[in-house]
Amino acid sequence: MTIAKPRHLLDGSHRRMFIGGAWVEAASGQTMETRNPATGAVIATVPRAGKKDVERAVAAARNAFDGPWSRFKPHERQKLLLRIADQFERHWEEICVSDTTDMGLPIARARANANRVLGMLRYYAGMATALHGQTIDNSLPGDIVSYTRKEPVGVVGAIIPWNAPTAASVWKIGPALATGCAVVLKPSEEAPLTPLLIAELMAEAGVPDGVVNIVTGTGAEAGAPLAEHMGVDKIVFTGSTVTGQSIVRASAGNLKRVSLELGGKSPVIVCADADLERAAPVAAMSVFANSGQICIAGSRLFVARSIHDEFVARLAVYAAGLRIGNGIDPETEIGPLISPRQLQRVEGYLRAGAEEGARLVTGGARLSQGALAAGNFVAPTVFAGVSDTMRIAREEIFGPVISALPFDTLDEVVRRANDTPYGLAAGVFTRDLATAHQLSRRLQAGSVWVNTYHAIDPAVPFGGYKMSGYGREGGVEHLDEYLNTKGVFIRID
Ligand code: NAD
Repeated sequence: MTIAKPRHLLDGSHRRMFIGGAWVEAASGQTMETRNPATGAVIATVPRAGKKDVERAVAAARNAFDGPWSRFKPHERQKLLLRIADQFERHWEEICVSDTTDMGLPIARARANANRVLGMLRYYAGMATALHGQTIDNSLPGDIVSYTRKEPVGVVGAIIPWNAPTAASVWKIGPALATGCAVVLKPSEEAPLTPLLIAELMAEAGVPDGVVNIVTGTGAEAGAPLAEHMGVDKIVFTGSTVTGQSIVRASAGNLKRVSLELGGKSPVIVCADADLERAAPVAAMSVFANSGQICIAGSRLFVARSIHDEFVARLAVYAAGLRIGNGIDPETEIGPLISPRQLQRVEGYLRAGAEEGARLVTGGARLSQGALAAGNFVAPTVFAGVSDTMRIAREEIFGPVISALPFDTLDEVVRRANDTPYGLAAGVFTRDLATAHQLSRRLQAGSVWVNTYHAIDPAVPFGGYKMSGYGREGGVEHLDEYLNTKGVFIRID
């Protein structure tokens, strides 16, 4: 497959942000750079938005919400979402090149996301005409009819991280379009380009002015004012748990609704009866995919003691065989980390693992030979001999690092797997149906995968337990996050 020439040059040129249907600069005139994490080269500059720009974007969204957008019928929103999906499909390769260049995602993986992202848009399109309240019989005196209506919450502020700009943007904007909300989306300062491209494609598909606005800027300068804004009715946030906590505090001013998709330290449990040949690559890629920059990374690998050494050896062979490089090469399986800062953070954990006595099985260092020297590359790493209290077993690393921990009984592994403040996901490998059901019930996580991992579907709710957040993305519950329920009583006697 050839690489399409992107409409935006990605050569350091300037891009503007999208507010009220127009491409605009920051009120301050300030800009910021975004770099290719595989090469360190500046690929674009974008406006560095501040409070004034957020206010302008929220006002544009409010105008749109109060204007013609609110008179769109469900079937019109459905048609719009279907047109957007078609537009994305036509321009999918550009979207992939943008993600690969801006955040390092291997292009093969970006291309493989097409079904998921287009499926999401088409799922929301389907849901746009399926939203409804209920007629409810009441016990009131007299003859009173009661029913509920589902109404859009209004202006939604969406704040996303850098690790999956396309999917995260669609996960936030799609339900807004299905329900009739208007959105101000703030991408990560590390990877703002694909959300800008997405807004452009959406405008071309016919999204009315002001319904989707993209404000580029930092968390402190643009994210915080959006979270605090009294004119924002809801914040949907994906990012770190610490930022999630500050969003909750910021929401208190007008008690806006909040949903949070946060971090994780997900357990993967490999039972003695598992199909080890099939489990090893899946367990490895549960962390190494996207260079470990995935909230659902199965970074605590609990392996039954009787198969522990064999399984860790298989994992090491698999990890050592992965092709690492610039994601624009279709052969690349593992790309760079997003930034030098993230690289330093991951290197800190590699040192901590060694200092706390974990045994390095493979990887363990930055890759700085030849062309890789200019980028933020880390070798896929497996530590064994890890104890539950080590930092690498407790803290979210967001890098390609697996900690292997042996276990003896199911009761023990359930207790240890749940002993974390997080609860985003969990994996189980077993051939025993009873074990599969028992562990799925007992693991405290929003998603449990058995003999697979990373399975995410637009129709199935995804989200966290505990400090991995609240609210769900995917399924009917996702749309409900963007809707208010109104009770109506009409006396008819
Ligand atoms: P981050 O929390 O630092 O940043 C996320 C977004 O929040 C960025 O757009 C940032 O600019 C903005 N932000 C930062 N400070 C802010 C503030 N005070 N107010 C408002 N906005 C602010 O996270 P990150 O480093 O970009 O992403 C990595 C984290 O995201 C990891 O913890 C990862 O687990 C999590 N994540 C979770 C999911 C999920 O679905 N649960 C998905 C992807 C990533």
